Amino acid sequence: MIRYNLVCEAAHGFECWFPSSDSYETQVGRGLVTCPTCGTVAVSKAVMAPMVARTDRPSVPAPSPQLPAEAPVRMISEPERKVREAIKALHAHVTATSEHVGERFAEEARKIHYGEAEGRSIHGRASLDEARALVEEGIDVAPLPPLPVDRN
Ligand SMILES: [Zn+2]
Repeated sequence: MIRYNLVCEAAHGFECWFPSSDSYETQVGRGLVTCPTCGTVAVSKAVMAPMVARTDRPSVPAPSPQLPAEAPVRMISEPERKVREAIKALHAHVTATSEHVGERFAEEARKIHYGEAEGRSIHGRASLDEARALVEEGIDVAPLPPLPVDRN
């Protein structure tokens, strides 16, 4: 079983278990996976990922990728506004407390995981295939929900 952190088009985060990465693709592709909060089938794995590679540096606070899932997420205006603020705060926190490695995310995550680079928190971009490969290697990566678009 593989656990994926998914995000819907309204930026609700939730977890889903799949027997394999292939079944993730199949089930999402057929619209069989719905957001538990709003019911949309427009769900995906987020591609921007904060990461805490090691736990031996407790002075560095871990980003909290679960924050949107734990926040009130009903699609009425006040909670939605709070979720949007929480996502923005999460982005600000991740940006401030981890190193941006851009497109080298998968490469750096592997180096840290296998002890070839200094253990530290990083964030950057990874394709779905790269993120899937990292998860399957047991590397602790988590998606960051997309920043909400401000509509006044
Ligand atoms: Zn949703």
